Amino acid sequence: AASSVETPAAAGKSVENVVIIGSGPAGYTAAIYAARANLKPVVFEGYQVGGVPGGQLMTTTEVENFPGFPDGITGPDLMDRMRRQAERWGAELFQEDVEHIDVKNTPFTIQSSERQVKCHSLIFATGATAKRLRLPREDEFWSRGISACAICDGASPLFKGQVLAVVGGGDTATEEAIYLTKYARHVHLLVRKDQLRASKAMQDRVYNNPNITVHFNTETVDVVSNTKGQMSGILTRRVDTGEESVLEAKGLFYGIGHSPNSQLLQGQVELDSSGYVLVEEGSAKTSVDGVFAAGDVQDHEWRQAVTAAGSGCIAALSVERFLVTNN
Ligand code: FAD
Repeated sequence: AASSVETPAAAGKSVENVVIIGSGPAGYTAAIYAARANLKPVVFEGYQVGGVPGGQLMTTTEVENFPGFPDGITGPDLMDRMRRQAERWGAELFQEDVEHIDVKNTPFTIQSSERQVKCHSLIFATGATAKRLRLPREDEFWSRGISACAICDGASPLFKGQVLAVVGGGDTATEEAIYLTKYARHVHLLVRKDQLRASKAMQDRVYNNPNITVHFNTETVDVVSNTKGQMSGILTRRVDTGEESVLEAKGLFYGIGHSPNSQLLQGQVELDSSGYVLVEEGSAKTSVDGVFAAGDVQDHEWRQAVTAAGSGCIAALSVERFLVTNN
């Protein structure tokens, strides 16, 4: 990290109205609203995903379900537009990772790799990371056969009408499998254990669906390709016998969960048992006054660009109210 640069805020000359951490749909939407409210937000965009700001959508190709783009838009293009919109209204953007936060004392302190900023309020929008299996050929086939989001990719031409597989045995995996049967010819559910962890209701829906085959005691080892270099199947191994075989499939969906990027807030605001930031229902308020959370870091259920953007809007409007009543 570069040496610390003292900003006016750090020198005690001023305290920022609001700092926003994160540059996904939640962070940029919050930045657009806060900037338009003349709050002069400071945004730490982070550089964790491929060294560029923009969050999870920087790792995908077409986004077909974000309203306003009837012909679809690439993830990077969508994020670039959000970024420019935030900049146009005067958000100050730093491509730096935040390394430390103190929200136990006011004003809050935000320490990035290069500067320290004091602020009256904070919007935490650091997103979540889909857990990966780390298969040997995972990087090669990421977005070209392997996906972590059935709702995002299930209807894509790559997967429509094909035989697909989902790995996992919990609610996420069973929901993905059921969702994919709308588009796929058949769906295989690959479960390492000898039973499903999903709720009884989800289990019943899986077992009653003739288009899903559940494979218990089955470990996913790697994907295999045809002579054209396209994904053509999945190498699996029986946990009980060690026997390996190839299951024909054109797509593999991970349903093994997400990890919220909430480490910075650990011990300072309330998190749930999986690390998601707890917010008051229907709001962006965390357990600490003046700290708001938006997007996937507080949402283990919907995890969509449009819901993240919506919650970023709520967070910024909440900050506006908070500053009026507390200053
Ligand atoms: P994210 O997009 O995760 O962004 C979080 C940001 O926080 C990142 O910029 C990160 O660098 C930054 N950050 C993290 N830690 C720090 C730190 N310490 N300091 C500074 N910055 C930090 N959704 C759809 O609606 N449609 C789709 O088609 C779709 N396709 C997807 C395809 C893929 C491959 C993936 C992985 C997801 C897809 N999603 C899609 C889901 C969607 O991307 C997420 O729901 C959305 O991006 C969440 O937005 P967010 O703003 O909460 O967080």
